[in-house]
Amino acid sequence: MTTTDLPLLVLGRGSDAASERGVDCPGSLPAASDPDLVARARAAKEALGDRVFVLGHHYQRDEVIAFADVTGDSFKLARDAAARPEAEYIVFCGVHFMAESADILTGPGQQVVLPDLAAGCSMADMARLSQVEDAWDALAAAGIADSVVPVTYMNSSADIKAFCGRNGGAVCTSSNAKVALEWAFAQEPATPGEHTRVLFLPDQHLGRNTAVLDLGMSLDDCVVWDPHRPDGGLTAEQLRDARIILWKGHCSVHGRFSADVVDELRATVPDVNILVHPECRHEVVTRADLVGSTEFIIRTIEAAPAGSTWAIGTELNLVQRLAAAHPDKNIVFLDRTVCYCSTMNRIDLPHLVWALENLVAGNVVNVIEVDPDTERWAKVALQRMLDLPARTASA
Ligand code: SF4
Repeated sequence: MTTTDLPLLVLGRGSDAASERGVDCPGSLPAASDPDLVARARAAKEALGDRVFVLGHHYQRDEVIAFADVTGDSFKLARDAAARPEAEYIVFCGVHFMAESADILTGPGQQVVLPDLAAGCSMADMARLSQVEDAWDALAAAGIADSVVPVTYMNSSADIKAFCGRNGGAVCTSSNAKVALEWAFAQEPATPGEHTRVLFLPDQHLGRNTAVLDLGMSLDDCVVWDPHRPDGGLTAEQLRDARIILWKGHCSVHGRFSADVVDELRATVPDVNILVHPECRHEVVTRADLVGSTEFIIRTIEAAPAGSTWAIGTELNLVQRLAAAHPDKNIVFLDRTVCYCSTMNRIDLPHLVWALENLVAGNVVNVIEVDPDTERWAKVALQRMLDLPARTASA
């Protein structure tokens, strides 16, 4: 079995626009200490006018969000980009898989730029196409591949989305994972008498939390496929008995929140409300008062009464911005230590200025371009998601 097809690159050396790996920016970046950075970013944006559309993910730094034309989660941003066909350049302040999705959903006359190619996602990196193909072969060997529907979280590379498109599966977001799984389990297995199973990629926590808490399955219905163990560490019998096969991936930010801290806050902070993202571990989510996507977290805090107290389990840049925007509410971070998404934070003002000034000079740098076949099948999986019933209001 292939454990990886990904040789390591030293961060900051080499260039590969098709991967989530750490790579460098050709050319010279402005110094982070340059006092004119804000003025330079403003001037470059003005010079480009409607030709550029800057997208800012909720987890980006404040200095970057200040120049975003729109903010949102990865799927909302990709759709926002698709709704701006007049923009020649989409500057995506987020991570690599998000820029890929924007490229898939935008038109042929638009180019998507990621200001720092080192802004990958560790979760997306945990499911490589060759690993997923190995797993699919094992499912075939166990005699169940034709009763398995692959579903991938938006936070995955374009080739994993395309794999799902090719094999009858779909994409989901943290907002619609429940309806996506309901759709998947409603698919008829090709072999009569078999039960339908789902292969959920790449976030085991979102898959488990949705299956158990939203669909009423038991933890015993879930097995975890470990791509670094022979046959995923599972027997053919375990695969056949499972209802959902969870890929062993996780978010390095949301995976840090712990049940201990939740218990400690409950014991020490009166009337605290625990609000977490479904990428958190099961024991954290089951202790929380409310669980939902970043958009849900934002809406919940906006609607919360003055004086209420919240401990939020999601990326720190967003929690800090929510605390600053709602000084009438008590908002704390659900971890004892500071933890930003390190790859999201690769995009900073020097990289944004560098990308924008290059566009002004006619150099399109760090273009993210998905190959046509991958794009075609990834679109099939994305369209199956778009065809699902409307998102549930609870997430
Ligand atoms: S917060 Fe987690 S899922 Fe999002 S980009 Fe960072 S590592 Fe990936």
